[in-house]
Amino acid sequence: GLADKLQDTFKRLRGRGKLSETDVSEALREVRMALLEADVNFKVVKDFVSRVKERAIGQEVMDSLTPGQQVVKIVYDELAALMGGTQSRLNISSRPPTVIMLVGLQGAGKTTTAGKLANLLQRQNKRPLLVAADVYRPAAIKQLQVLGQQLDIPVFTLGDQESPVTIAQKSIDQANALLRDVVIIDTAGRLHINEELMQELRLIKGQAKPHEILLVVDAMTGQDAVGVAEAFNGQLGLDGVILTKLDGDARGGAALSIKAVTGCPIKFAGMGEKLDALEPFYPDRMASRILGMGDVLGLIEKAQASLDLDKARELEKKLRKDSFTFDDFLEQLQQVRKLGSMEQILSMIPGMGSQLKQLKNAELDEKDLKRTEAIIRSMTKKERQDPALINGSRRKRIASGSGTKVQDVNRLLKQFEETRKMMKRFQLMQKSGRKPKGFN
Ligand code: GDP
Ligand code: MG
Repeated sequence: GLADKLQDTFKRLRGRGKLSETDVSEALREVRMALLEADVNFKVVKDFVSRVKERAIGQEVMDSLTPGQQVVKIVYDELAALMGGTQSRLNISSRPPTVIMLVGLQGAGKTTTAGKLANLLQRQNKRPLLVAADVYRPAAIKQLQVLGQQLDIPVFTLGDQESPVTIAQKSIDQANALLRDVVIIDTAGRLHINEELMQELRLIKGQAKPHEILLVVDAMTGQDAVGVAEAFNGQLGLDGVILTKLDGDARGGAALSIKAVTGCPIKFAGMGEKLDALEPFYPDRMASRILGMGDVLGLIEKAQASLDLDKARELEKKLRKDSFTFDDFLEQLQQVRKLGSMEQILSMIPGMGSQLKQLKNAELDEKDLKRTEAIIRSMTKKERQDPALINGSRRKRIASGSGTKVQDVNRLLKQFEETRKMMKRFQLMQKSGRKPKGFN
């Protein structure tokens, strides 16, 4: 499948120390082939490859990754972006009931998905009402009623003699009467898109005024699914897509193309026939699944570490210029919060690891951090730049402004002075202008 092909390509890339433009082009040619074979839309593939190429050639510097790994990271980023980047949630109306209308061709999985979605929402403490608005397919109403029974969720029906438009309209009153806060309308499909179907759906839309029109499409149908999504979106306007039978689709073409082609995000994925087999769709997770989960997560961690390394470098520059101020100190503290320890940042600066042991106060607990932050925030801009200004009366003011004691302020000033001294020592060490080394 797609995953195997891409992983093979990347295995070859990853081992390399340096990548030539030819290496990158060669790898991307394989990526292109793999995507086309996975039934990804041709134009999507073309744009995708050119975006990856552009980024791979003007590569951001990330010392922690080899060039091969960086290409994999770029492909991962772009795959996730292709599918919308971040999770797209349902629009839940502030005025209940939220009305969700499921549309799609026959056999796509609408009725099953109506049950699954009701189940998912019920687990999030919503009170769904299922609405049987497919009056054409024999036993369609019964199918929904069975699902409702299994889930203990009411199903609204007026039999198969009323029009779907009337059913949809009356279901909203019923929801209000039963205090149900989400209405899920299961509509009829056809084998192919036709005007009759679209006309009916437009009328239901006009009556029920859904907050969400979700297209249910079968992932196994690949590019056809994309065509269906384009047509429904054009005729009806879609708020999102539910991709069913992703459990059986080894190619992934529909998942990769739909957002890029139609602009509609995939909101959920059907992963099986059972009622609990519906998942929110996460573009980043799908991308890592395609590329091989563990590997990619490791890479992302490394890339993150390299972002922190950039910060460390910035700090180092300041140390060299001896322009370290309380503002920098504050920023370091925020990093510490994020990373867990100041050591982690400082240890990235060459020569700092051993110096660090002399900084006895490196282990601050969360409460200390909060207090320190409050104190620094109570200093004026000038005081932060030039702590020598902070005399007795200023110390009192800072203490009361930050809800601390003067002793706390004194302690911090002393700590800052020590840090500065240590940095001076460090600076002397590096004074010869030697290029720092060992960034890895
Ligand atoms: P509708 O005509 O659009 O209402 O489609 P149905 O809900 O009746 O589903 C058609 C078939 O697809 C049924 O056999 C379902 O069990 C099956 N189905 C629906 N969703 C999924 C899914 O996510 N995975 C799998 N494997 N089967 C599914
Ligand atoms: Mg159905």
